[in-house]
Parts: sequence; structure tokens; C-alpha cells
Amino acid sequence: MSERPAQRIETVAVSAGRPEGPGAPLNAPVAFTSTYRSGGTGYSYGRVGNPTWSAFEDALGALEGGHALAFGSGIAAIAAVIETLPVGAAVVVPRSAYTGTRLLLADLQTRGRVEMRAVDITDTAATVAALDGADLLWAESPTNPLLEIADLGALMSAARERGIVSVVDNTFATPVLQRPLDLGADIVVHSVTKYLGGHSDLLLGAAVTRDETLRDLLHQRRTLHGAIPGAMESWLALRGLRTLALRVDRAQANAGVLATRLQEHAGVGRVHYPGLRDHPGHDLAVRQMSGPGAMLSFELSDAPVADEFSARLRLIVDATSLGGVETTIDRRNRWPGDEHVPAGLLRLSVGIEHVEDIWTDLAQALAGS
Ligand SMILES: *Cc1c(COP(=O)(O)O)cnc(C)c1O
Repeated sequence: MSERPAQRIETVAVSAGRPEGPGAPLNAPVAFTSTYRSGGTGYSYGRVGNPTWSAFEDALGALEGGHALAFGSGIAAIAAVIETLPVGAAVVVPRSAYTGTRLLLADLQTRGRVEMRAVDITDTAATVAALDGADLLWAESPTNPLLEIADLGALMSAARERGIVSVVDNTFATPVLQRPLDLGADIVVHSVTKYLGGHSDLLLGAAVTRDETLRDLLHQRRTLHGAIPGAMESWLALRGLRTLALRVDRAQANAGVLATRLQEHAGVGRVHYPGLRDHPGHDLAVRQMSGPGAMLSFELSDAPVADEFSARLRLIVDATSLGGVETTIDRRNRWPGDEHVPAGLLRLSVGIEHVEDIWTDLAQALAGS
């Protein structure tokens, strides 16, 4: 973790994780190596550590305010966190958690490895009640794809009072908009694949914590399981991080405009965006986030109408995943595990294109419906 407490997040994103000293390159090089010459300090074998991972980890750690560890994907980081639990551990998890997280926990439950307690994470009282005798609280806010907001501060302190480890998947918000460790979380996980990388050209994950014991446990999981990142992906992700604040700012500004216009459009049903005043989590989002983000979803009447709408889009790409510079759209209900999502709901990951070009595309596709 680099010591730059006085700097704003935009500055940290640009300056953290750089080699220092006279003659040092401005950017960490990509260390393509499987091993290291003996006798040094820090690096021994390529599955244990790599200086390019370290540079990325220093930068992300500084952004989240903890020690970061990079993993081969978001789900690898999530699996490593779950693996720290004893056999039979009870995990409180949002019913609307990321599909992969739910599928992983459900699989582990089938095999007797953990007990899964699914909750409505927006219902603080019900979630806290489920913590009785639990071992881990998993939280997401905003959630995917309904953009529900959980009261992270209240949930994290309830977990802490009961000695339960709490985790926040901060993929949707990024540290630019929300810092869960400051809200009391023990671990933050990321799909770096999304906003942090930001260009839809890599898969990478990360876990961040202030707790040295947890960090050592997670590092041990990564080494034992080999869920390691590639040097090139780490380098690309660090390059992506440099512009994170700019990208999030622009995409969020675009999302605000589009959410309002979609809401006013007669052909569109409900619009889910925490930046809208009538969103049930709006006030909470204002309190715990520095902005509502750039993910939104909206409802068309049914699956065929939504699919025909998507097929008419010319600029916006019909693809899953999110958080890239380009706007993408995804009818979530088509995916296994997301059958509970309204069939005609489209999730929009708003990019950094000119907002009028994005709107022109949405409007022409709506006009055809
Ligand atoms: C994509 C995603 C993940 C999984 O990350 P991968 O990099 O695809 O393994 C986890 N959580 C959230 C919220 C995501 O959107």
C-alpha cells in the first residue's frame, strides 16, 4: 500500500504503483518470467509473485485503501475468499449477487462445503437476522442487474459486532465511487475485467484487505491454487487504472442523461438507476457513494421485443460483460442463473462515447419497436 493519504483518487490512479528512484522507468515493465535468480528479496518463483502484479496491486491497494492481491479473474478472487472458510461455514449472500458468485456457492453447498443463506440485501433487518451463527457476509451494492442499493455501513458494522468477516464486491462502483473498507468491510473483491481494466480486453480479479492475516491467507490460496494473473494482463489493467476516474466520470454523466430520457420515453417501462430520485436506493446511494455510476437497466415488454430492440442497435454492442469504454447491452434473463430477472429487462453498461450518439442509437431502436 503506498502512503499517499493526502491525494485525491484521480491523482492516486495516475501516480500509484510506479517504479521510483533515479533512472527508473516511469512505468512498471512487463516481467515475462517464470522464475527469479536466487538470493534476492521478494521474488522466488513465478506462481508466488511477479513485479508487474505488484505494481498493479500497489495502485489498486492505494485506491481502495488496503493491500491488494491480483488473481486470474474476478471469480478466482471470489473463490479464494470462500476457500478461507472452514467446511460447513454459513455464508449470507444477496439473492441478487453476481451470477457466478451464486453459482459457485450453490455448487459448494451441493457438495456440503458451505451453507448458503440467500437474502434480500436491501432489507437490512432481514440480512442482519441471517447473520446469526454465520461465518461470512457477502455484499454487493449496486447489485446486478437491478442496481439495488444495500446499506453497507449498517451491514458491515452488524457483521463486525458478531465477529463475522464481511466482503463487498465493488465491481460496479469502483473505488472512484465507493470505498467499502472505509465503510467497515474486511475484504473488497473486484472483477478487474470490468471498469478497472476498462477496455474489454482482459480478464483479471483482485481482493483487497487491511487485515494482514486475511491478506496472508488469500496470498496462500492464490499460490496453492495457482489462480494467478498473467503479467501482460496485469500491465494492461494498470494502464487501464490510470484513466479510471476520467472514464467513470464521463460514463456516469452519460448514464444520468440516458436514464432520464429513457424514463421519459413512452416505449420504456421501469428504469433502474440509483441516480434517479424515484429509485428506492437513491438516498442511500447519495450517502454512501460519491456518484450513482454508469450501469442502468430498463424494461421492455417481453423477451422478443427486447431482442428485436437489441438487434436494431448499430452503435451499442449486444454483449455480456460491462465496464468498458464502449456501451454494451445485455438481456440478462437469457443467462442461466438469471431466470429471476424480468424477461424484457436490458442492462446497459454506459460507455464514454458522446452521449448524443448513444441516445440517437437507443432512440432509433425504440422508434422501430
Ligand atoms: C464479472 C463479475 C464478476 C466475475 O469476474 P470475472 O472477471 O468475470 O471472473 C464478479 N462480480 C461482478 C459484480 C461481476 O460483474
